[in-house]
Amino acid sequence: MARVFNFSAGPAMLPEKVLQTAAAEMLDYKGTGESVMEMSHRSKEYQAIIDETEALLREIMGIPDNYKVLFLQGGASTQFAMIPLNLMTGSGKADFVVTGQWASKAYQEAARYGDAKAVASSKDKTFSYIPEIDKNECRPDADYFHICLNNTIYGTRFAKLPEVDVPLVADMSSCILSEPVDVSKFALIYAGAQKNMGPAGLTVVIIREDMIGKAKDITPTMLNYQIHADNGSMYNTPPTYSIYVLKLVLEWVKEMGGLEAMKAHNEKKAAIIYDFLDSSKMFKATVEGEARSLMNIPFVTGNDELDAKFVSEAKKAGFINLKGHRSVGGMRASVYNAMPVEGCEKLVEFMKKFEEENS
Ligand SMILES: *Cc1c(COP(=O)(O)O)cnc(C)c1O
Repeated sequence: MARVFNFSAGPAMLPEKVLQTAAAEMLDYKGTGESVMEMSHRSKEYQAIIDETEALLREIMGIPDNYKVLFLQGGASTQFAMIPLNLMTGSGKADFVVTGQWASKAYQEAARYGDAKAVASSKDKTFSYIPEIDKNECRPDADYFHICLNNTIYGTRFAKLPEVDVPLVADMSSCILSEPVDVSKFALIYAGAQKNMGPAGLTVVIIREDMIGKAKDITPTMLNYQIHADNGSMYNTPPTYSIYVLKLVLEWVKEMGGLEAMKAHNEKKAAIIYDFLDSSKMFKATVEGEARSLMNIPFVTGNDELDAKFVSEAKKAGFINLKGHRSVGGMRASVYNAMPVEGCEKLVEFMKKFEEENS
């Protein structure tokens, strides 16, 4: 069996141990004689799986008791609408920091439901930095303030959280579980699972209880947080298998030492790549300073042909999905939790060799 190092931005690598456990349990989950995929979501066996997943997530992230954990579908993109439908119902205002394509989509979608304002943006330099936030631009009566904590496409992240006096909402799709976060600083956290949590099809929402129950009348039932909270994420069939794989991922994170250990692991991996980029004459990181993401590392040679040659030779050598997002070009190495240190070391070795042979 030849496994490649997969630098995809998502769906992304999963820990090998998780895949092996899922494979071993595929035909017969713990003596039930059935696969988790075939299990009724109303069965006691499945209830135990979803309960255990929630308990592990609460333990690992330190989620306070006054927050609900919801296992939903529709991806982070559905949250772009679900959040304003449920939360933009006091003053009808919400403020956004536009730090990339996902943040921009969140802002544009909210603008369909209320008074959305972009209080800061880094669009002027292709989203290569995190903008300063001028407090005078922020509205004290906004229903919430939205950020995208890690910008998957551009490789930036908020090294510190903005200080705001209104409920803070964060898209953590590409950084959840990568390091500790103080959940109590947020009113709502959401993440599509396919970057750092498990397979596509599952969206995790962590919402403070006082944010629930305020939805606009027009809100579709399936997009109302209250419905999902009241029904333990079982109003309809949840993405059962994806939740089960998340459970396996959480068991792996716990075994690795939890989020402090994940942070050290991810800092080590990112440093291997950034240190090389900073010393290379051929390759250059597109983001500088503390805004550099630990999860998504974009880089360029400055020559489109050379970029294409690199991506193609890297693929042949077993380093796949290094092509940058179509809106940015160049390359991007996504190194989520499941990417081993070895993958980053081997990639840098390959880049050194490529640089020698092509300069
Ligand atoms: C991938 C991604 C999204 C989109 O997620 P879907 O689950 O495909 O809707 C949104 N925000 C961020 C930060 C992402 O990385």
